[in-house]
Amino acid sequence: MIRAIILDLDNTLVDFSLLKRQAVRGGITGMLEAGLKADPEEVYRRIFEIYEAKGWEYQTVFDDVIAEFHGSHNYKYLAAAITGYKKSREASLTPYPGVYASLITLIKQGIKLAVVSDAPGREAWLRLYQLNFHHLFDAVVTYSDSMELKPSPKPFQLALDKLEVRPEESMMVGDWAERDMTGAKNIGMLTVFARYGDIFDTKDHGADYEISAFDGILDIVRNLNGEKA
Ligand SMILES: [Mg+2]
Repeated sequence: MIRAIILDLDNTLVDFSLLKRQAVRGGITGMLEAGLKADPEEVYRRIFEIYEAKGWEYQTVFDDVIAEFHGSHNYKYLAAAITGYKKSREASLTPYPGVYASLITLIKQGIKLAVVSDAPGREAWLRLYQLNFHHLFDAVVTYSDSMELKPSPKPFQLALDKLEVRPEESMMVGDWAERDMTGAKNIGMLTVFARYGDIFDTKDHGADYEISAFDGILDIVRNLNGEKA
């Protein structure tokens, strides 16, 4: 009997990769309009190199590329970049198809929901709030709460404690095999691999189930809990 579902946020509930790409494009367009002389494709490639090296939540990527491409800091270009980035990000922050309706269905079935994310608390909550998702979850555990990244058992255990459920009564849904699936499996949760959010072309995810769209969760829960649920 599944009583709780723990969900990863980025690339599971929201298409974070798309969001990031479009936000960066918006920032670059802003800088070029403000007068920065650079090849937008080159700037784009450089920004993602920096993200790869310093993490996806690295906050001063535009300062770095302005210094590199312009030769010194420039606050006009920086303001244009940040404004363009934020506008594009807001426009492209949407859940995957079926996410909202499926979450509501699960809530109606009496299933508790939590988010466990490696994102910093501020960024995770901003995304949840902008999506209007902030009232849907019984618990939200971010890196700022656990101070340990998945697959550490700590963030999962924190969420289970808050939900007051045992691991075997709960299911983890996520796009990252080594973090989401391994971490949850190690403490005895069922695991569901979100194939639609996979950006690594994962071959062996080791999960109990795989879904190609978010609402696939509903079938899994129905099968485990019986038709009545
Ligand atoms: Mg993820």
